Amino acid sequence: MSSVDYRSDIFDQILIAKDRVYEIASRTPLVASQLIPDSLLNLKFEHIQPTGSFKIRGATNAVLALTPEERELGIVCCSTGNHGRALAFVAKKLGIRITVCLSVLVPQAKVDLVRASGATVVQHGNSQDDALEKAIQIAESSGAKLIPPFDDPLVLGGQGTMGLEICDQMPDIDTLLIPLSGGGLAGGVATAVKTLKPHVRIIGISMDRGAAMYESMRAGHAVAVPEYTSLADSLGGGIGLANQYTLALCESLLDEVILVTEQEIYDGMRALYWNDLIAAEGGCAVGLAAILAGKVELVGPTATIISGRNVDPQQLASVIAGEALTLDDITVRGPLK
Ligand SMILES: *Cc1c(COP(=O)(O)O)cnc(C)c1O
Repeated sequence: MSSVDYRSDIFDQILIAKDRVYEIASRTPLVASQLIPDSLLNLKFEHIQPTGSFKIRGATNAVLALTPEERELGIVCCSTGNHGRALAFVAKKLGIRITVCLSVLVPQAKVDLVRASGATVVQHGNSQDDALEKAIQIAESSGAKLIPPFDDPLVLGGQGTMGLEICDQMPDIDTLLIPLSGGGLAGGVATAVKTLKPHVRIIGISMDRGAAMYESMRAGHAVAVPEYTSLADSLGGGIGLANQYTLALCESLLDEVILVTEQEIYDGMRALYWNDLIAAEGGCAVGLAAILAGKVELVGPTATIISGRNVDPQQLASVIAGEALTLDDITVRGPLK
C-alpha cells in the first residue's frame, strides 16, 4: 500500500477516534505564547491532559476499541514512560490488567508514575527496542494485547484528534511544529492537518543525538540509532525496524525535520518557564528551542505542541535556576552571571 492510502485510512481512524477519546482525554486549549509578539506563536496545552501528556488520546482510543475477550486477557506495552502511564490510567479506569515494559534509561520519576497508576512494571534492557522485545514475549506467553506506543492505526487515530482541534482553534494556521520521536504524534496530527488544510507547513523536531525518525527518513528505511541521556527523554528510542505506518506518514506529510541540541532544549525549557510559566518536559520545548535558535523562521501564524509535563521536578528546578547539568558527556547551563 502506498503512503497515500495509509493517509486516508488513518484519517478515517481519526474521525472514529473523535467519538471515543473525549470519554477520558481532554480537548485542550491553544494559548498564545507571551514570548513572541502579536500572538504569532500558539501553544497547544497537551501537558494539562490527564496523566500529563497527549499519549492519553491514543491510549484511550486503543483501549476502548478492545473486545470484551481482549479486555479479559489484559494489556502489555513498552514505553519511554508517558505511553505506559496513559495506558495504565485508562486500564485502571476500565478494570483491565496491564504490564508496562520500560528500559533502564527511563527516568526514575517516570517509572514511579507508571507504577503509581497501578501497572505491573518490568524494567528490561538498555533501549526502547529491548523493552519492546520483552513486551512481545509477555504478549505471546500471556495472550495480553500489545498496544504499541506509536506505530499503530488506533494510536495514530487517537493522537490525530489533536490535529482536528488545532484546525478548529486556529483557522489561519501557517506552520505547525511537532515534537518528533516514533512519529505517532506527528503522523496522526499531520494526517488531520494536511487533510483539512493542505498548505500548512509541518515541521518535525527532534534532539540531535539519537534522532531515529530523522535518520530513518534520510536512509529511506527504518534504522536503529544509539540512545543517549537527553533532556528530551520522551523523544528517545527507535522507530522499530519493522515500522509499518509512521515512517511512511512522516515521509509524505512532514515538510522538514529539524534537530536541536541539548543546550537549545535547555534554553527552550527555561524560556517556557520564565515567559509562559509552563513547567514542562524537555521533549515539548523543542519547538520553542528551534525558534529561539533561529532554526525555524516565523513567517505566519504558528503553533507548537506542549506535549507533556512529566519532567523530573528536581531536573526542572535546576533548569529554571540555570544550574549546570551533565548528560552523558555534555554539560548544559544557563547564562553566566
Ligand atoms: C511520546 C512523546 C512525544 C513523541 O511522540 P511520538 O509519537 O513518539 O513521535 C513527544 N512528547 C512527549 C511528551 C511524549 O510523551
